[in-house]
Amino acid sequence: MKYDYLIVGAGLFGAVFAHEAKKKGKKCLVIDKRSHLGGNVYCEEVDGINVHKYGAHIFHTNDKAIWDYVNSFVEFNRYTNSPVANYKGEFYNLPFNMNTFYQLWKVKTPEEAKSVIAEQVREVGVKNPKNLEEQALSLVGRDIYEKLIKGYTEKQWGRKATELPAFIIKRLPLRFTFDNNYFNDKYQGIPIGGYNKLINGLLDGIETRLEVDFFKDKSELMAMADQLVFTGKIDEFYDYRYGKLEYRSLDFKHETLDMENYQGNAVVNYTASEIPYTRILEHKHFEFGTQKKTVVTKEYPTEWSGNKEPYYPINDLRNNEIYSKYKTLSEKDEIIFGGRLAEYKYYDMHQVIASALAKCKKIFS
Ligand code: FAD
Repeated sequence: MKYDYLIVGAGLFGAVFAHEAKKKGKKCLVIDKRSHLGGNVYCEEVDGINVHKYGAHIFHTNDKAIWDYVNSFVEFNRYTNSPVANYKGEFYNLPFNMNTFYQLWKVKTPEEAKSVIAEQVREVGVKNPKNLEEQALSLVGRDIYEKLIKGYTEKQWGRKATELPAFIIKRLPLRFTFDNNYFNDKYQGIPIGGYNKLINGLLDGIETRLEVDFFKDKSELMAMADQLVFTGKIDEFYDYRYGKLEYRSLDFKHETLDMENYQGNAVVNYTASEIPYTRILEHKHFEFGTQKKTVVTKEYPTEWSGNKEPYYPINDLRNNEIYSKYKTLSEKDEIIFGGRLAEYKYYDMHQVIASALAKCKKIFS
């Protein structure tokens, strides 16, 4: 059977593309090397709890069209991301706001908070930040940096803040209201019943095959369709001819606990360097779960090597130069490249959906 499109990758990009193509009467085959659909938004049900297998996924967007699009497949709940930070046993609200400033310094008004921060920035006296540490100190002063940024960032990147480039932190938003809502976007929430409902809705009526690695049967698979949509790693697609792109990876340690409520919040960040993980997730709180048990996940940032999942692209000068060579090469091919791995770009969910819809609009209209 000949398909119009062979879509490699059943993540959000592949699923949205397949859905839109089907609406235009195109016949698609979606393959994925994993044993499930959904890519990194996949949830596994454990004791009635939707476990975010690849880390906390919170949907947020300012774009009403994207919000309406996802809500046409599944209703979203009113979950609001308001993580807390645990630094050596003390709790601080995030993002940095009046609650955090009160917890740090017992200040009660925005004016008092601004003056403490201004004083600390003055004391540090950094004029031209040469690394991430200096950049952060020059923006928020010593207390916020040392308690809430330093350890977390060093764990995330596996390097000292003094060895990281300043550009990683462009801004550090400070909020002078008592508002713990992490995102500024107009719309946010979690699909009621989990992300699999969104993916299953998108892929409804479309043929999918799991545990199929494109590179194992490349020519046979390509011969099955007129056009290829590729959402895997672009450097792998071109046999690494310009070198390997680098990533940061994560290890997830999932655990079921025989208790109703472990930490009282979906996300708790651990900001001290002595603790090897960056966050503990408690999944039931994403959906206001009332199950008898709970599932928690510790996130350990790790080096990436060939056999680990490539989660975060490292968009430094070297990698961006390599990627731009692959991109130039890909523009000469008839293949459609999309998504976080093929575009070597960190995409939030709403952004990857918008990018797939934009691509479809160009092709199908
Ligand atoms: P993916 O979901 O990675 O899908 C690509 C698929 O291609 C994968 O399933 C892979 O198995 C498959 N594939 C690759 N190579 C091959 C091959 N050779 N053969 C067959 N199949 C192949 N976004 C938010 O908006 N909010 C959040 O809170 C949020 N949290 C995140 C937390 C973490 C830890 C991470 C890593 C990401 C987070 N994101 C979040 C981003 C979100 O995961 C992405 O926007 C989205 O998953 C990207 O979809 P995609 O289709 O591009 O990639």
